[in-house]
Amino acid sequence: MPNDVLTYSSDKPGIVSQKPLPIDGEPEILSLRPRQLPDYVGQSDTVETLKIAIEAAKKRKEPLDHILFHGPPGLGKTTLAHIIANEMGGNLTVTSGPALEKGGDLIGVLTHLEEGDILFVDEIHRIPRVVEEFLYPAMEDFAVDFVFDKGVHARSYRYRLKRFTLVGATTRVGLLSAPLRDRFGIFRSLDFYSEAELMKVAARSAALLEVPIDDEGTAELAKRSRGTPRIVNRLLKRVRDYAQVRADGSITKEIVAAALSLEGVDEKGLTNLDRRYLETIINFYSGGPVGIEAIAATLQEEADTLVDVVEPYLLKIGMIIRTSSGRKAVITDPSSVNSKQRTIW
Ligand code: ADP
Repeated sequence: MPNDVLTYSSDKPGIVSQKPLPIDGEPEILSLRPRQLPDYVGQSDTVETLKIAIEAAKKRKEPLDHILFHGPPGLGKTTLAHIIANEMGGNLTVTSGPALEKGGDLIGVLTHLEEGDILFVDEIHRIPRVVEEFLYPAMEDFAVDFVFDKGVHARSYRYRLKRFTLVGATTRVGLLSAPLRDRFGIFRSLDFYSEAELMKVAARSAALLEVPIDDEGTAELAKRSRGTPRIVNRLLKRVRDYAQVRADGSITKEIVAAALSLEGVDEKGLTNLDRRYLETIINFYSGGPVGIEAIAATLQEEADTLVDVVEPYLLKIGMIIRTSSGRKAVITDPSSVNSKQRTIW
């Protein structure tokens, strides 16, 4: 059987990686990723749940229960999977829902796992149904069922897997099928970070990047980062560039403001896309309610991008609301939206 498994397409590069993936495409972000729970800022309830589950599993010398993380991009779901693998001392295998196109792709990944390994599946809501069916026995009984032949000659063969932990991440928990959702022992939703927490992330990253930043600069960066650690790290690098080229290399509040206004990021952390989204609802659809598909068509953007990336933060800060008949802008004065203005509120 293992020989068969080696021919699965999951052995090709791309579907699976045993090394931590540079998800952001920037290797440097990797070094900013906390490796231990104590370095992980915020999400105190989730961290507490994980600490208890990890300690209990270690005491019993058992693998950790399967874990599902839900939340907008950049809030630290992948980072938690890395930390869990570190804390449990298992290997981390990283893949994603869309990469697992066929049952064989998943089987190839599963049969290569060792006892206590962590399998991280990003965007788990995008696993095709046929592949998902293989996950059920794998999660519940640590087994994969193969069926050979058809009709009266059909025979099934059960392949035993090593006991592993599945860590799933999703931006859309509603799209997960109930049978899959129910097979996770631990389910946590990650929320946007407070400014104080983002300041800690910014200060830690600045120290790692060895770039001087004062408290006011840290606070300004945190304020403009849409409650998201990934954005803090990304903006910090842009501000660092600006400080090194246009100033003496140290980051102050003024440097943050100047650098980020060049990036189109306003005082609330809203980007051009956020502003275009709000302008569309207010100017084009008279404040709403309007369906997401109509907004996406007007903006010529993917509806999924708007739902996953733009809307969660605008909902969080109360700029829009979602009703049964569509999205509504809370601010309805069209004159307050001016695309030439960098800061509109
Ligand atoms: P997600 O998987 O939810 O999209 P990631 O785990 O890839 O998000 O996080 C993006 C980046 O943000 C990471 O590389 C890491 O540097 C930083 N980050 C995320 N969460 C935290 C945290 N709680 N503390 C410090 N840095 C964090």
